[in-house]
Amino acid sequence: MSQAGMPNTSLVSAEMIQRYLEAFAAEKGLMPHIRFNSWVQNVDRCALGWRLRANNCYYESKKLILACGTSSVPGGVHFRVEPGASVCHSRDVAANLPEIEASRHVVVVGAAKSAYDMTYLLCSLGKRVTWLMRPDGSGPMPMMPYKIAGMHIVAIGSTRLMSYLSPSIFNTQTWLASFFHRTAIGRWLTRMSWRFFNYMCDKTAGFWKANGMGILKPEPNELSCFWFTSALGMITKGDFWGTLQKGNLSVARDSIDVAREGSVLLRSGKVIECEYVISATGWGDHFGFLSPSLRAELGIPSYENEGEKHVFWEAYDRNAKESVLKSMPLLAESPKRGEVTPDLKLQWRLYNRCIPFECAQREDRSVAVLGQLYTVQTSTVAEIQALWAISYMLGELDLPDDKVMIREISEFQAWCGLRYSIFGERYPCAAFDWIGYLDRLLEDMGLRSHRKNNIFSEYFSPYGPETYRDCLQEYIAKRSNTSA
Ligand SMILES: Cc1cc2nc3c(=O)[nH]c(=O)nc-3n(C[C@H](O)[C@H](O)[C@H](O)COP(=O)(O)OP(=O)(O)OC[C@H]3O[C@@H](n4cnc5c(N)ncnc54)[C@H](O)[C@@H]3O)c2cc1C
Repeated sequence: MSQAGMPNTSLVSAEMIQRYLEAFAAEKGLMPHIRFNSWVQNVDRCALGWRLRANNCYYESKKLILACGTSSVPGGVHFRVEPGASVCHSRDVAANLPEIEASRHVVVVGAAKSAYDMTYLLCSLGKRVTWLMRPDGSGPMPMMPYKIAGMHIVAIGSTRLMSYLSPSIFNTQTWLASFFHRTAIGRWLTRMSWRFFNYMCDKTAGFWKANGMGILKPEPNELSCFWFTSALGMITKGDFWGTLQKGNLSVARDSIDVAREGSVLLRSGKVIECEYVISATGWGDHFGFLSPSLRAELGIPSYENEGEKHVFWEAYDRNAKESVLKSMPLLAESPKRGEVTPDLKLQWRLYNRCIPFECAQREDRSVAVLGQLYTVQTSTVAEIQALWAISYMLGELDLPDDKVMIREISEFQAWCGLRYSIFGERYPCAAFDWIGYLDRLLEDMGLRSHRKNNIFSEYFSPYGPETYRDCLQEYIAKRSNTSA
């Protein structure tokens, strides 16, 4: 990857990623195959396999890979917007920057990474900012410094040892997981490690000082990074907390009822005069191009009740929850703010997080869903997941029988909700568990999962993109050996 555009923190910038992807597409001859500015409005089955409609053109293919990401469709606005009010989603801030820059007072709504980013941007621009987080939500997201004790936080989180300090569905049956999660001392060590990370986050933010930042201290105290109730962010700007502290910023746990021209009316009854509102409340339904029946068939949640399908899965889900709690008792302490109502739970029925169970059951290998698993190593996971899914679609991989697939799907679903709390009830997540996930995919393909040279490096040196660099070549070599 070219170093041009690298910030002085030596982190990878958006500009570098964009340049890398463009160079990759050009080098591999992909450009003629890409239809730019084409938004898929509808996907359906057809005689050939799949039929897509984009910008009133139709495309047919034998196979379909859905890799539409999770952050292209803005989430809805949860308050009334009257004519004349200036409101935009965090996604559209760049397009609306002139109007935002002309504003004196801006209200930001949300509690996660986008809301922090918006607040930082506005404070940097010298705006007066009121930052609102709903009182009944999970509260502010924990923000980790990008370095702890001189080491990059993603590197620390990407060691095999760390993957055992997270009670993980991908390594439960190992002796190390037995020690960390099925003995009292192991659980104590797990808690203490995460308390340390939390302490470092709090220290970087200076929550104990009288700097007005205390209201941003995440919950639950001491273990907010571990439980992930509001997910987790990483600070990449050295002046992040300083800019918020020096900024003309007030933070409140309140919601907007109505946005009007020049003001907002809050649920508490308070009126705030402001010229602009930025809604940083997350993302909407990125599978809107699928009909409800196709969604159900593909194991993609419908934001509605599963109906009859729920009956099929109910007993499996119940058993799965019991089994997960038995092997990872720490998860019984999972914090829930009130009961998570069924409409807040999203039921994903994808084997290994990418293969629709119903299709796999009838040997229909024409479809895969990629990129729906939250981890701290997106690009590495994307590469191995794509290799596994393509190998499956080409018929080179045997799947286990239905019973095993059902158990895998329901245990992941149960574990995810317990391990990653409200976030995990909605989205497939393996934030700290991605090494175990990749182990499983690589072993399925007959490739080496434990990729370090010695036992010390295996557990203590970070896994990252370079560790998996040769997987594609190894797979190609294995394939030619098999066909020879
Ligand atoms: C605000 C923000 C900050 C982030 N910061 C970081 C970070 O610092 N580091 C990091 O590692 N990750 C970060 N992430 C996460 C990272 O962006 C994603 O994990 C990554 O982009 C996922 O890649 P993907 O290819 O699966 O999906 P995407 O990058 O979302 O790509 C999906 C593509 O599909 C297209 N698409 C979607 N629906 C349709 C449709 N119907 N028709 C046609 N095209 C469609 C989209 O336009 C998009 O081009 C951030 C995400 C957000 C939202």
